[in-house]
Amino acid sequence: FTIKMDDLKLLEELGKGQYGTVQKVYHRVTNVVMAMKEIRLELDETKLHQILMELDILHKSTSDYIVEFYGAFFIESCVYYCMEYMDVGSLDKVYGSGVPEDVLAKITTSMVKGLKFLKDELSIIHRDVKPTNVLVNSKGQVKLCDFGVSGQLDRSLAKTNIGCQSYMAPERIRAANTYTVSSDVWSLGLSLVEMAGGKYPYKYDNMFAQLKAIVDEEPPTLPDHFSEESRDFIAACLHKDAEKRPTYAQLLEHPFIQKYKDVDVDMAKWANEAHAARLAAKQ
Ligand code: ATP
Ligand code: MG
Repeated sequence: FTIKMDDLKLLEELGKGQYGTVQKVYHRVTNVVMAMKEIRLELDETKLHQILMELDILHKSTSDYIVEFYGAFFIESCVYYCMEYMDVGSLDKVYGSGVPEDVLAKITTSMVKGLKFLKDELSIIHRDVKPTNVLVNSKGQVKLCDFGVSGQLDRSLAKTNIGCQSYMAPERIRAANTYTVSSDVWSLGLSLVEMAGGKYPYKYDNMFAQLKAIVDEEPPTLPDHFSEESRDFIAACLHKDAEKRPTYAQLLEHPFIQKYKDVDVDMAKWANEAHAARLAAKQ
């Protein structure tokens, strides 16, 4: 089916990013609650059509570790991207003062499987791995969103990463556009340190100092109470030399992942408690 604006009822705003707003919407035709991202672009119709065509490959295959894509359309020069609504929200909003190691292990496993799926099945490098792009639902599922599926969309957004917290790997800072699959592995490692410690790991006074620290300083590590296996996993992801970082297949074999593989962590309980704590803090 194709989604049209007329079939959607706007429910509430879920958040705002650099490029637009995400809203919770209800699709009357299918009875599905969705998240709709509005991306404002200054593009001609040909390029807008190209973006929709490129997004179409997302209909082809799905994964438990990727937020489901329902469809996209454009009105004037705005692209509207409709996806699965994740009712707990993004990880930055629920990691609180830091997640425990067993929960971190399950989040890590989902993220690595999601990234591996994008690469193996769709030949996509994510390019924007960070806690706001990892979503959680009340079933305890963890899924990735906002990956670079459309080249045209990526170019049109002219991703400058001018946010005040950078997840860019050192090689991307040193030489603009030097981006490989292992640059995502760095961003994964940095996101995990943030979720474990409860804050973005680099201290900084300004953007320049922060980027310089990423290139020049020793990479951040997990808090002391984390196990040797988990610390080794992070150290491998945050290797300054991109070529020394492990592949996704290697990461899935790593002792940190293996240690928790057969451990049944109640992710739904964690997600619901984290969500409740966040709602309580907002009041
Ligand atoms: P940036 O613009 O730098 O990528 P961002 O990821 O926070 O930052 P958006 O992707 O526009 O910006 O998302 C805004 C917020 O909307 C997110 O932080 C997230 O909390 C929420 N959000 C996005 N997609 C969904 C979804 N599918 N379900 C629930 N909440 C979502
Ligand atoms: Mg996002």
